[in-house]
Amino acid sequence: MISSDIQKTIGSIYCVGRNYSDHAKELNNPVPKEPIIFTKSPACIVPFAGKIFLPDHLGRCDYETEIAVQLGSDLYQAEQNQVLEALRYVGIALDLTLRDKQNELKAKKYPWDLAKSFVNACPLSKFRQLASSQEIEELEIKLEVNGEVRQQGSTKQMLFSIPDLITFISQHIPLRSGDVILTGTPANVGPLKNNDYLVAFLNQEAIAEAEIVRI
Ligand code: ZN
Repeated sequence: MISSDIQKTIGSIYCVGRNYSDHAKELNNPVPKEPIIFTKSPACIVPFAGKIFLPDHLGRCDYETEIAVQLGSDLYQAEQNQVLEALRYVGIALDLTLRDKQNELKAKKYPWDLAKSFVNACPLSKFRQLASSQEIEELEIKLEVNGEVRQQGSTKQMLFSIPDLITFISQHIPLRSGDVILTGTPANVGPLKNNDYLVAFLNQEAIAEAEIVRI
């Protein structure tokens, strides 16, 4: 479960598209020259635990396993050292995405919100304090679905490092203490089916597990 303390303090959720080149390629997207930033509504947050209910009528719903960080102070037009100081908590998020809806919206050149902010679209693991500012460069994530490894990634494979991403966002958007940043998904995203059992690992430690219920 997310500690209620953290859930209460979550402000905005900022996400990054295509931050691993292998994922950009699998969806036939060009590798970006600067970070692609979008948001998810905090109303979509649900604990990454127990059962996660996803309405079946929404169509294909893909998992995207992502390192999530939470800020411990406000940042605006920040220098990298201020960003490193503000990085406080880390956990895992699923940036659930309605892929058919997203493709339809992309084709019309519309914003992606309807594909990213549906009910329960943002399962979050419990967060823990970052051990040190170096730790942010050495994080690994993994997702198992029904006991099979589906996604694996490391901060070393990112196109834009987490401090660079946050520095970039803060040049444009005033960030607040409590905001959460989802830092992009590695390759091998895929659709969720009823009864899929998900286990997410941060640095080899299983920190979240849940069953998908499509209703
Ligand atoms: Zn994502």
